[in-house]
Amino acid sequence: MPKPAKVKVKVKAKAKAKAEEAVTVEEDATVEANAAKPAKPAKSAKPTKPAKPESRLAMVRRARRMNRELDEVYPYAHPELDFENPFELLVATVLSAQTTDLRVNQTTPALFAKYPTPEDMAAADPEELEQMIRPTGFFRAKARSLIGLSAALRDNFGGEVPGRLQDLVTLPGVGRKTANVVLGNAFGVAGLTVDTHFGRLVRRWKWTENEDPEKIEADIAAIFPKTEWTMLSHRIIFHGRRVCHSRKPACGACPIAHLCPSYGEGETDPEKAKKLLKYEMGGYPGQRLKPPPGYPGEPAPPLGAAG
Ligand code: SF4
Repeated sequence: MPKPAKVKVKVKAKAKAKAEEAVTVEEDATVEANAAKPAKPAKSAKPTKPAKPESRLAMVRRARRMNRELDEVYPYAHPELDFENPFELLVATVLSAQTTDLRVNQTTPALFAKYPTPEDMAAADPEELEQMIRPTGFFRAKARSLIGLSAALRDNFGGEVPGRLQDLVTLPGVGRKTANVVLGNAFGVAGLTVDTHFGRLVRRWKWTENEDPEKIEADIAAIFPKTEWTMLSHRIIFHGRRVCHSRKPACGACPIAHLCPSYGEGETDPEKAKKLLKYEMGGYPGQRLKPPPGYPGEPAPPLGAAG
């Protein structure tokens, strides 16, 4: 016998899904139309109504769309530190504080050759280690962290990097950001990497108004499914390093300008903006000496090489 009550529920569910789809299409169309429309000149000097604030739903849809478009722009996005195992990634991430990934990548080949395991690094002569990592800045504090975290790995974790956030943050010099980088890229655990680029860009994009990294992390986690977190972080950081710079964003050469509420904060002249692009986007070498397959740019030069 047919069950009319269930059929009714199914029909209702279908209708609801259609309505939701319509909202998505309509909102996407509005975003596109708004982006495509040239600004109308003001008809009179009368004060105009302030623009309607973007709804939460529209912001979430715009954010997800920006993520999809960033994926098309940077299908090769990846962590920009050279590493071959979790220990190397942990060390490289600690060294990357207050310096560029390029400088870290130029420093680590000799370091990893001399101290390949936590046991080796825990037993390092502090002054020798300091001299090796000097090019990365803050070398005394970083050397202390590296020796301390290596000793903790040796003594508390059997010489292995643990794959849990709560363990990683107990290591000297390892905060939430470092732990998330290691988890996301050496253990495949989803995580958001809220560094300076990430924070600046998501504020420019009005995905959050927060300044505090933990609050930013919570805000962005609420917009995207967990499966996107690691790659989203790479895409945002890639975009921040190449196009949406801190002082001079290259708005006129930005592939996602049509979705950005801060368009115009930087250079809008396309030719001038093009000159601001960095790494492979500007035709220069990247940050990794050993970039992963698929990277369209040149590998970075070793320490001391010209260029
Ligand atoms: S339009 Fe300008 S501010 Fe917006 S993402 Fe692009 S470079 Fe950044």
